[in-house]
Amino acid sequence: MTEITRREFSLLTAGASLVAASGLPRPALGSGPARIIVIGGGPGGVTVANRLKSSDPRLDITLVEPKEKYTTCFYSNLYLGGFRSFKSITHDYAGVKKRGIDVVTDTATAIDTKAKTVTLARGSEPMKYDRLVVAPGIDFKYETIEGYSPEAAKIMPHAWQGGEQTWLLKEKLLALPDGGLVVMSAPPNPYRCPPGPYERACMIAHFLKTKKPKAKLILFDAKKTYSKQAVFEEAFEEYYKGIIEINLTNEIDDFAVVKVDAATGVVTTKAGRTERAALANIIPAQKAGSIAAHAGLTENDWCPVHPENFASTKARDVYVLGDAAIANDMPKSAYSAVSQAGVVAADILASLEGKPRAPGKYRNTCWSMLAPDNSAKIGGDYVPATKDGKPYLEVKEPFISKPDDSAELRRETYQESAEWYQTLVADLFGEAPEKPVR
Ligand SMILES: Cc1cc2nc3c(=O)[nH]c(=O)nc-3n(C[C@H](O)[C@H](O)[C@H](O)COP(=O)(O)OP(=O)(O)OC[C@H]3O[C@@H](n4cnc5c(N)ncnc54)[C@H](O)[C@@H]3O)c2cc1C
Repeated sequence: MTEITRREFSLLTAGASLVAASGLPRPALGSGPARIIVIGGGPGGVTVANRLKSSDPRLDITLVEPKEKYTTCFYSNLYLGGFRSFKSITHDYAGVKKRGIDVVTDTATAIDTKAKTVTLARGSEPMKYDRLVVAPGIDFKYETIEGYSPEAAKIMPHAWQGGEQTWLLKEKLLALPDGGLVVMSAPPNPYRCPPGPYERACMIAHFLKTKKPKAKLILFDAKKTYSKQAVFEEAFEEYYKGIIEINLTNEIDDFAVVKVDAATGVVTTKAGRTERAALANIIPAQKAGSIAAHAGLTENDWCPVHPENFASTKARDVYVLGDAAIANDMPKSAYSAVSQAGVVAADILASLEGKPRAPGKYRNTCWSMLAPDNSAKIGGDYVPATKDGKPYLEVKEPFISKPDDSAELRRETYQESAEWYQTLVADLFGEAPEKPVR
């Protein structure tokens, strides 16, 4: 294990060791074990459930998740590029159940924060909770693109939620005629995985270069700048020249996609440019998973939380973490969600005993694959602070890959990201994923 990997690994286990090292108290059991409901079986929700159960097996923990299998968005671009199989990014909850967590395959349809209950789509009685963790990820603001809808997404996939959509986009890439045009739209901020659209552009371009050499990719972007831009621009030039055309919004033209026609494949930008795509990958503007808004936990589409522990500012004994939360400088990533989950688990354990709660410290790293054996990264530590008199999560010690990094460093960065995925998935689902397909 390299030095950096050891550091990353320690992050993955940070929440658990925090609980153990600080000797945080056992929850008061009162008339029975404390009941914790976790909504959402992604990295955020699963990590909280796992950490709580391993810290105190007596806790009664229910994880509610509608899907029987979870396909990770992280590494899904590598599947599109041909570097991973679909199976290797898809995981079931058998390992989570084995830990003694009650995994309920259902959708939470209502939260009553006064009565402290959660109602499920198929459940008969609302379930009581002592603490609730809401980690539903994202939903889409379909209404921001005329003609786009869940139905249209079956023809023009976003593939920004893992599973069927990821599979669909790959099937459409495989079926693309050589010489076909792929059009991608990148969303406005804030959205899940800031470097994700550009990693996807690299991975789709790699697929085209190796499998459909006459095909082209045009990306329309609602933004003027984006994450890790310098290294992506270097990669577009070095590996995908003549394949990719990137259109960032500028002072004159707004390249936000505002209209699509799923029947004809025509994509229209705000600047009035139109392209007829053989395959369109439309990634719309985003918001917190819809249960959060239904429960009154949102403000301007996302969930405000206290930066020191990710407790909701809107309801008592409710935590919101992962992509659904407003985490200021901290990007919406699986790494962030796991880091936040460690703090939430420690805070729940402390709060159940009414003991002092230490403010959280967080970390994130986002890796992006640019080409074979070539990955770049960005990240930093995050601490609660104040900005304009308001609580804020501020980045400390940020780091970022440089355009002229050596090939050796980029190879190491790729290996580091592969180890991260392997370790994370084993930690979440209790299984070792398949090796890369290459
Ligand atoms: C293409 C792409 C590449 C990415 N690459 C990386 C990467 O390399 N590294 C990285 O760190 N991050 C990456 N990310 C981001 C990462 O996938 C997300 O940030 C992460 O999944 C967020 O975790 P979460 O637990 O908040 O939400 P999710 O992973 O979305 O999990 C939320 C879960 O909640 C469930 N849910 C929703 N509503 C309800 C409800 N009402 N009741 C019950 N369950 C519900 C959903 O079914 C879902 O399974 C990438 C994202 C994309 C799209």
